[in-house]
Amino acid sequence: MNKLILLDRDGVINFDSHGYVKTAAEWVAIPGALAGIARLTEAGYLLGICSNQSGVGRGLITQSSLAHIEQKMMRAVQEAGGSIHSILYCEHRPSEACACRKPKPGMLLSAMAELRAKPEDTLFIGDSLSDIQAAKAAGCSAALVRTGNGRRTERQISRSCSIRIANDLYQLSEDLT
Ligand SMILES: [Zn+2]
Repeated sequence: MNKLILLDRDGVINFDSHGYVKTAAEWVAIPGALAGIARLTEAGYLLGICSNQSGVGRGLITQSSLAHIEQKMMRAVQEAGGSIHSILYCEHRPSEACACRKPKPGMLLSAMAELRAKPEDTLFIGDSLSDIQAAKAAGCSAALVRTGNGRRTERQISRSCSIRIANDLYQLSEDLT
């Protein structure tokens, strides 16, 4: 069985935009995030991304833009020395009530099945409450970064919620390796 780290995309790897990251030009990596992915890759973790992209279902992001954003991200990850083994998106609008949109665990369950990892060997890193809820629903551990919505989320979670918290993905990668 593999040790797996799943990541939210917007707010964890790249800056969240007001509204949506709609084009490759709008995709800008958060400082240290790519180095953090490289560090986790070198430490032997399998890595995957599970990202809500309802902008597709809302008609604000085309399939082709989503693909171009992915190409830009994957090239940047590769150039930094990292690997991403699986990328899953939920393209549905909230009103579609699908099983994949976080806080539902659908994408996390699919990624664990694809990459042959058990929930107890899987960590989900996100910046929003819905990420932590999805991790709990999937039976994984959760970690929070203070980038993106992270600082707001940190104030929302109860003190009894003992999850790992780091300033950003690079600091978290140091804690995990
Ligand atoms: Zn969905």
